Amino acid sequence: MDGSQKLMVLPGQKIGIAEEAAPGSGAYERNSEIFAAVAGYPVIEHGEISVVPKHEVMRIRIGQVIYGIVADSMEMLALIEIEPRVRGRERFSPAPDYGVLRVMNIREGFVPTAKTEMRKGDVVRAKVEGLQNGGIQLSTKGFDLGVVLAYCARCRHTMDITGQMLKCPKCGSSEKRKTSSSYGKDTTLDEIKFI
Ligand SMILES: [Zn+2]
Repeated sequence: MDGSQKLMVLPGQKIGIAEEAAPGSGAYERNSEIFAAVAGYPVIEHGEISVVPKHEVMRIRIGQVIYGIVADSMEMLALIEIEPRVRGRERFSPAPDYGVLRVMNIREGFVPTAKTEMRKGDVVRAKVEGLQNGGIQLSTKGFDLGVVLAYCARCRHTMDITGQMLKCPKCGSSEKRKTSSSYGKDTTLDEIKFI
């Protein structure tokens, strides 16, 4: 990290006073004080204090393909912890960054729940679909996107793919996922250091 890099601020955090600077993008004024409206890094320029959103500092772009680990899988969405090394090797914050994969963005057609498509701990290849309100919206629509590595729910062994189904070579359990065409042969996984 560059020594001049300021600490990250969170929405609602005071970042200055109106006497010193006007609120720029990502900032607002209240009672002559300036607060951050988004999570990011404060920048003072041309008499304005702005907050550069965290994902912009991380250089996350719409259309970019990221790798992540499913942190949680619920009815309406899966929460993906974005892997920092594969997203550009520019890590400014030690905190993990999360992307949201909504159920309608998992695959084409009606998907009743995200729980049967992604499971906690799976490694996912996804595309950045949107960057709204400081959040990162992901999609796994498309044959090359989806789960690239899955662990057996019963015994945690890595699963092998046979057609559209995943099968555990250790305990024989079969499971379903929204898998990527690169399942089992994704070389980018070699770069990822799993915790
Ligand atoms: Zn198993």
